[in-house]
Amino acid sequence: MDQTKEMYEMLGISREVYEYGNVILEGLKERFLAIDETAEYNQLKVLKAMQENQVSEACLLGTTGYGYNDLGRDTLEAVYAKVFHTEDALVRPQITCGTHALALALMSNLRPGDELLSPVGKPYDTLEEVIGIRPSKGSLAEYGVTYRQVDLLQDGSFDFERIRAAIGEKTRLVTIQRSKGYQTRPTLSVERIGELIAFIKAIKPDVICMVDNCYGEFVEKLEPSDVGADMVVGSLIKNPGGGLAPIGGYIAGKKECVENAAYRLTSPGLGKEVGASLGILSQFYQGFFLAPTVTASALKGAVFAANVYENLGFAVVPDGRESRHDIIQAVTFGTPEGVIAFCEGIQAAAPVDSHVTPEPWDMPGYDAQVIMAAGAFVSGSSIELSADGPIKPPYAVYFQGGLTWQHAKFGILRSLQSLVDKGIVTKASIEEAKCRKTAK
Ligand SMILES: *Cc1c(COP(=O)(O)O)cnc(C)c1O
Repeated sequence: MDQTKEMYEMLGISREVYEYGNVILEGLKERFLAIDETAEYNQLKVLKAMQENQVSEACLLGTTGYGYNDLGRDTLEAVYAKVFHTEDALVRPQITCGTHALALALMSNLRPGDELLSPVGKPYDTLEEVIGIRPSKGSLAEYGVTYRQVDLLQDGSFDFERIRAAIGEKTRLVTIQRSKGYQTRPTLSVERIGELIAFIKAIKPDVICMVDNCYGEFVEKLEPSDVGADMVVGSLIKNPGGGLAPIGGYIAGKKECVENAAYRLTSPGLGKEVGASLGILSQFYQGFFLAPTVTASALKGAVFAANVYENLGFAVVPDGRESRHDIIQAVTFGTPEGVIAFCEGIQAAAPVDSHVTPEPWDMPGYDAQVIMAAGAFVSGSSIELSADGPIKPPYAVYFQGGLTWQHAKFGILRSLQSLVDKGIVTKASIEEAKCRKTAK
């Protein structure tokens, strides 16, 4: 134990920050056991899907050129379909990121004259340009697809009355974002997503329900596709890539929806038949295999961060006790300085580029400057320890990831140290917070 403490000291963590962290951890044993139990179930789910599809050594090789008869690619898509309990899946390195996967799912399943509905409020920032909420070249709006939105009620619940009123003749596709993204609304549980889909399907059975599953995969035992979603969509440099996938996205769902997406990704007539996997498949397979435990590590980090900062008096979403439905932790600092200090600490904790200082910049797709801390093996990967904060009120940071729990823990302590070093959090307030916790 003393050796570990010394190691923390050598890495710049002061005694009071280290001890405060351990007091917080004392209270989290049961939470962590429950997270491990979910990971155990999901590990077996993935293993079963791989065994049933007879993943073989030949699947780990890749194709070049057109990529006809790519056994590994086709088998991996069958494995994803099995895990998500869907008819089919599209899992490709040619899908460049999460936004691309979502844009692909939307653009391939909507036609001019159709209407898209978001019954859970404003979607993720980058989707505003995909949809055309902010005018943008090539948006759905330019192709004559209209958009409607129903916000969540003040308390975070669904506005069923207005959702009913918003579903009309033209409504073709409903997009439901599971994770909070850059907002402070609660993340939706799979159970709540199921209730919403059931409500919508009762009004209009043939409407396509798509779930933006980013950051949600393997957090629970069920996925949105288990409760009625026609499509689930996500990024491989988040949870399902397990930290090993260097690029990629997936769409799992109804055969027709996935087929539409494949024809859009490659070409009408070609669809899933082309798309060489190059040399990337062993990372896709191994990453998917590791994803349940990597997600569990990130989840422990999020729960730890919530408790560390909540107990110091900062507003956190979700709070320290709430059940979790994604791996994101929001902490509100209320000032740009707090956001920046936090991100500097996360950067300083990284295995790659720990010596650089992150700065706010005008990131494409976002409407305010964003500061990002990411010292990742895969550039921009947010299943690895990372944090980002838009420089706008309420000045909240969104923390996520950690390929191992031990690294997530270190990153959070390092972020707190950074706030202490800048005088934003005082040593006295840490002592006080520690005593408050011990007294309970
Ligand atoms: C990350 C994310 C996206 C976009 O993914 P990128 O890979 O960053 O393009 C979309 N929706 C949600 C909820 C996300 O978290």
